[in-house]
Amino acid sequence: MTLIAVLSGDGIGPEVTAQARRVLEAVDAGLQFEEAPVGGAAYLETGLPLPPQTLDLAKRADAVLFGAVGDPKFDALARAFRPEAAILGLRKELGLFANLRPAKLFPGLEDASTLKREVAEAIDLIIVRELTGDVYFGEKGQRRTEDGRRQGYDVMSYGEDEVRRIARIGFETARTRGGKLCSVDKANVLETSQLWRDVVNEVAGDYPDVALSHLYVDNAAMQLVRDPGQFDVIVTGNLFGDILSDQASMCAGSIGMLPSAALNGDGKGMYEPIHGSAPDIAGRGKANPCAAILSAAMLLRHSLARGEDAGRVEQAVARVLADGARTPDLGGELSTEAMGDRVVNALG
Ligand code: ATP
Ligand code: MG
Repeated sequence: MTLIAVLSGDGIGPEVTAQARRVLEAVDAGLQFEEAPVGGAAYLETGLPLPPQTLDLAKRADAVLFGAVGDPKFDALARAFRPEAAILGLRKELGLFANLRPAKLFPGLEDASTLKREVAEAIDLIIVRELTGDVYFGEKGQRRTEDGRRQGYDVMSYGEDEVRRIARIGFETARTRGGKLCSVDKANVLETSQLWRDVVNEVAGDYPDVALSHLYVDNAAMQLVRDPGQFDVIVTGNLFGDILSDQASMCAGSIGMLPSAALNGDGKGMYEPIHGSAPDIAGRGKANPCAAILSAAMLLRHSLARGEDAGRVEQAVARVLADGARTPDLGGELSTEAMGDRVVNALG
């Protein structure tokens, strides 16, 4: 039996996740689903954004389908009680260290990209971002220097094992795609990056079939907008990956189109759209469910080893877009549910 935890959360989370679940049900009627509250919805019910029973479900399940969390009405709460704390808790408890963010422009959406049509058309890449190390988790604080001035610091550090495991995910991902991996660092300035580059080069010995290149992050940022078509898979650290993946997503059109996965290396993963809970449009059937549906496709591929079914879902999304199906964010009038209907009907 395959169990999928459905944590749909706040705002448009439940609306888009419902469509993703329908698509999974249409692909395989045998999948089991179990829902649990998370984020602001969970806080209102239980006093915690990530209640123990929700965490327990996420641990028992084969994969987690996540919607979105957050609402401005919780901004005054202490950090540990805010809806966003649920995502960090899930990442930590499930050991999710690899964040996969594909950026692909679907035919028909060229005008939604911030890039010129002929440049945008070529985007089909995936960023593999390390999620548990780097400046986010090094020693940090504020102090006074001897002359009494304030100073802030965040230590950037990576252990070789952390680099090795994310490098492997990068190479494995490249193997299933175009066979090209670009590792992004700042090895001309940072010790962390020199270690990163050394370890990636070592791991490359196990993947002679993958063409490896290295870029400094400043150059990578420039190349991403100049000629994104040159990239297949990019592997990078937590900080650089955070910045580059947001940049890549804008090149690829609407925020309502882009999925993501957070993986732990043993097949467990959490799958969610890159967008947030969008309180401004929640409850009105206006949200684009494609990012959630494409996240479900990633779930099929990475947690259930069903790449063929994942491809069917992605092709169904491509087909309905090519036929002109558009939610309001893409300039159309289809409701969230009507878009979900189209995709379900287009499954080959
Ligand atoms: P978070 O901090 O949770 O990432 P955010 O403040 O970055 O949230 P989002 O919730 O992602 O913001 O919303 C940003 C904008 O994009 C909003 O105007 C929202 O309505 C729009 N948006 C987000 N997701 C979708 C979607 N699926 N369909 C249509 N519009 C969306
Ligand atoms: Mg955001």
